Amino acid sequence: MKRVGIFGGTFNPIHISHLLIARAALNELSLEKVVFMPSKNPPHKLNDDVASDDDRMNMVRFAIEDEPGFEASGLELSREGITYTSDTLRILNDMYPDTKFYFIIGGDSLETFENWHEPQMILKRCALVCTGRAGQESFYVRQRIQALRDKFTTENFIPEIHYINSPKMDISSYLIRKYISFDINTLGMTKQSVSTYIFKTRLYRSSAYDELIMKMESLLSPHRLAHVKNVAKTAVRLAQIYGADMDKAYIAGLLHDCAKYLDDEQMLQAAKDYNIELEEIEKTSIQLVHAKVGAVFAKEVYGIEDEDIMNAIRYHTTGRPEMSLLEKIIYVADYIEPGRKRMVDDPEAVRMLERARSYATLDLDHALRYILKETYDYLVRQTDYSISDMTRKAYEYYRDI
Ligand code: FE
Ligand code: FE
Repeated sequence: MKRVGIFGGTFNPIHISHLLIARAALNELSLEKVVFMPSKNPPHKLNDDVASDDDRMNMVRFAIEDEPGFEASGLELSREGITYTSDTLRILNDMYPDTKFYFIIGGDSLETFENWHEPQMILKRCALVCTGRAGQESFYVRQRIQALRDKFTTENFIPEIHYINSPKMDISSYLIRKYISFDINTLGMTKQSVSTYIFKTRLYRSSAYDELIMKMESLLSPHRLAHVKNVAKTAVRLAQIYGADMDKAYIAGLLHDCAKYLDDEQMLQAAKDYNIELEEIEKTSIQLVHAKVGAVFAKEVYGIEDEDIMNAIRYHTTGRPEMSLLEKIIYVADYIEPGRKRMVDDPEAVRMLERARSYATLDLDHALRYILKETYDYLVRQTDYSISDMTRKAYEYYRDI
């Protein structure tokens, strides 16, 4: 019997983990080849951002073009109506009676396999090949597999289920789609040819975000625009680490300085127009007000209704006691974004920035405390210094907890 792997999935888009799983299956099970078979859009995903059948197939073709032992098949895409795996396998068994098929499923599918259409039939028509997903212990995956074996074993049938120990990377198609909508590089997550295809076809781009940036381009200087994009991308990465909403982080990052293009006169006028209460210090250091005005602009100019986003903008320069996760993320991202350079001739300032950057990915509260303290100390060192009440309150609050 020939041994052929079938890797079914949405592949929306196909990424490096898929290729690693397929490679591991090919090697460990001595398969002749692995056939990637994109599945049709499941009905419940129709409104989601699923790329067209053609695009997903093209991306699979690009991903495997220089990969020996990998092939692509449009069998599932070309079938009419609902396509069940058990039917696909029946067709394959009929077409290739001299071949034994190894059906590869990812970690998520392993969790739901029992609820698939005719799981027993699937197991009779192929050997199942399972792998865990990133963060799953191989022991846990093996347990799940044993549970499946027990469940589907009968007097005259023992299902063949394999565990594949492939490197599990924290990559998902979802994350890639998100990154692309945020204009974040997906280098290392997909094959270069796939990235190029996505870029050229503008797949997974968000028209809402593109429009927002276009609007900002007409108002902000190129320098400011580069800064807010950097803050937005940095905020997304922090949101990913600390489990905050990536979209909110992105929007708040983009908009945090949206009032920064106003001169002093315009700033005071905007504060007046929107009945923004000013602290004493804000009446002389007028540019400080850009955070408060920015929060109002986010709503009035950019239609943002979310309170948390508006607060993240409002408190991004001063901080405040009891900041929300999103507020902390924007505050820290504004300070550490990669374009930020602290007086390069002052080695201590450079060290501070590097320290803040490394804290940020390890312990957000620690980074926040550190930046608040450094900012506070810096202000105190100035001759005839004055500090906003809110900055002082934030500093004391986080110093004391
Ligand atoms: Fe700012
Ligand atoms: Fe800023």
